[in-house]
Amino acid sequence: MERIYLDHAATTPVHPDVLKTMIPYFTDNFGNPSTIYSYGQEAKAAVEDARASVAALINAEPEEIVFTSGGTESDNFALEGVAYANEKRGNHIITSAVEHHAVLETCKFLEKRGFYVTRLPVDSSGLIDPDAVKKAITPKTILVSVMHANNEVGTIEPIAEIGKITREAGVLFHTDAVQTTGHIPTDVHELEVDLLSMSAHKLYGPKGVGALYIRKGKGRLVPFMHGGEQEKRRRAGTENVPGIVGFGKAAEIAREEMPKEVKRLTALRDRLISCILERIGNTRLNGHPVRRLPNNTNITIDFVEGESMCLSLDMEGICASTGSACSSGSLEASHVLLAMGLRHEQAHGSLRFTLGKWNTEDEIEQVITALSSTVARLRSMSPLLKNKS
Ligand code: PLP
Repeated sequence: MERIYLDHAATTPVHPDVLKTMIPYFTDNFGNPSTIYSYGQEAKAAVEDARASVAALINAEPEEIVFTSGGTESDNFALEGVAYANEKRGNHIITSAVEHHAVLETCKFLEKRGFYVTRLPVDSSGLIDPDAVKKAITPKTILVSVMHANNEVGTIEPIAEIGKITREAGVLFHTDAVQTTGHIPTDVHELEVDLLSMSAHKLYGPKGVGALYIRKGKGRLVPFMHGGEQEKRRRAGTENVPGIVGFGKAAEIAREEMPKEVKRLTALRDRLISCILERIGNTRLNGHPVRRLPNNTNITIDFVEGESMCLSLDMEGICASTGSACSSGSLEASHVLLAMGLRHEQAHGSLRFTLGKWNTEDEIEQVITALSSTVARLRSMSPLLKNKS
């Protein structure tokens, strides 16, 4: 059976050119970048080339990029690094109710250590109000962390507006841009952010590598990892050279292909959304209708369970998701959809399709047909629908 993969927000396949670029760094060029002989120096040069590519993707300087093990570590490092470096100045952090668990759980961890966290609500489309950020800032506020775009519903947050507010207030601003870097234009100067998290496996690079952008001149973060002097003593540990090289290549490809991909994916996404809403009754789009990621479709389908739809579609070779990958396996309703005001049963009946580089129009047609028949079959057995009639 041919499979149709529509879960690119969970992870993307490694681009063949990325893999090709990585392979020599497992074999011939295996040196440790911290060594002084040529093997090491060649590996070091490859890491520095990758740093320049990743920096270029977000319009940053190479020295502002610290390589990490992925988006989760970047988020943890940003929040904890700022918190511990500034605890004499203040103990207040502002974030939103719809952040990824990598931010929300780090906030909980910091609360147990004396920090105070404000979690701002969102409107029914998942948007944060910049004015609410302004009102929440106090003399004790040391950091605002708001994601660039939401991984579940694809809503793109007003980061540049929030950036202006935090800059005027003299408060550091972090954004989790794991779902946006390489997908939509992400420029640290236009967004006025001081810290920005990225992850390679969301942009056709390998898993287990990411980066944190740290704006020059904004003070030092307390390091998260302790050991050697790698990454200018900001992140200890021998560099994941093949991973970093792959991340660099993925960033280079993303920069080249972004304008064309944004157009192509937006058209595919809009077709998927309009066909589902037209052909399947009692369905609603979640997230902002316009300010949304080009590849994200998140729909609530009444009277059916997201898990049942996901498993039925899987039997037809279609991979979708009922929320973020991190929460699959648990039956907790998505915190994002609940924060947007959906009821528990509506949140449970939601399905996310995130499109990618190799999805075609033909695949989208197949998904619409399969989803229509799956929903009809599940609804014919649904106790939710029987209770309604
Ligand atoms: N932040 C967001 C918005 C994400 O979507 C994810 C992964 O799904 C992460 C952080 C975590 O990234 P990683 O899987 O690289 O740890």
